[in-house]
Amino acid sequence: MDIRKFREKRGLSQQELADELRTTQQTVGRWEAGLVVPPLNSAVRLADLFNITLDELVGRAVANPPPWNTDELILALRLYLNNPTSPPGKSSAEVIALSNLLNTLAEWLGNERTGAYRNPNGVYMKLMNFRRLDPRFAEKGNVGLVNGGQLEKVVWDRYAANPSRLNAVADAITASLQMPSTTLNRGDDLEVTEAEEGRVLTSLHRSRERNRKLVEQRKAMALRDGKGIRCEGCGFEYAEKYGEHGRGFIEVHHTIPLHTLPQSMTTRLEDLALVCADCHRMIHAKAQWLTMGALQEIVKK
Ligand SMILES: [Zn+2]
Ligand SMILES: [Zn+2]
Repeated sequence: MDIRKFREKRGLSQQELADELRTTQQTVGRWEAGLVVPPLNSAVRLADLFNITLDELVGRAVANPPPWNTDELILALRLYLNNPTSPPGKSSAEVIALSNLLNTLAEWLGNERTGAYRNPNGVYMKLMNFRRLDPRFAEKGNVGLVNGGQLEKVVWDRYAANPSRLNAVADAITASLQMPSTTLNRGDDLEVTEAEEGRVLTSLHRSRERNRKLVEQRKAMALRDGKGIRCEGCGFEYAEKYGEHGRGFIEVHHTIPLHTLPQSMTTRLEDLALVCADCHRMIHAKAQWLTMGALQEIVKK
């Protein structure tokens, strides 16, 4: 506990600090020398006076908040680009609103919220980090803050030159948060790579196409149309290879663009494509998911 360091930072003498705490200068001297530990009520008042947490007062490391994920960086980048000359300040309405939104998002991302989780100060720092990637600032020899993560650059490269797409995706993420969070499939999904549009919309996509009822309805439609239950990507039919055991087996992939998902509350069967497991995994293998057309092109070659 380095009381002396914090006291001197505040420009207080031992006597002044003692007066604040209604104790004696000798007592403060003993605390600072480490001869006596201050009682808890004094420690709380010291922390308040120094404007620090008790953890900081006793020198205990505070757990770092989890790194920012794609969804959060998309929302932050939009705010950054909307303010081309300089990001809004720490106490601006925009930064506070984003801080609140990110705290709502935490549950959807499965992030634990510790004390300073995505507080306005952290949001502001993140906005300033984008400067490192912004040619308008790089040109001036102003490199911005250096400790930005790799993902910041990925999100910048994807979206900075395409603000209308950025807006659409950011709106879709925000709109998704209005839905009951039970619609999301949140566990680790090993079969898909998180889409460019982030985790919330990825989960929404997966929850739609894994809906048993919809899958059965889509299969019934294929049988009615006489098309059979075969992959629309490569033409594979499970019954051909696996006989009776594989008859009727297929997966479905939801084909509409992720940023339009929240607007289409009900899933239309026409938007579901029948796909074999291999083709479905290929569609989701990279952050930029394949369209059915692109998949068919690849298979053709
Ligand atoms: Zn296939
Ligand atoms: Zn899919």
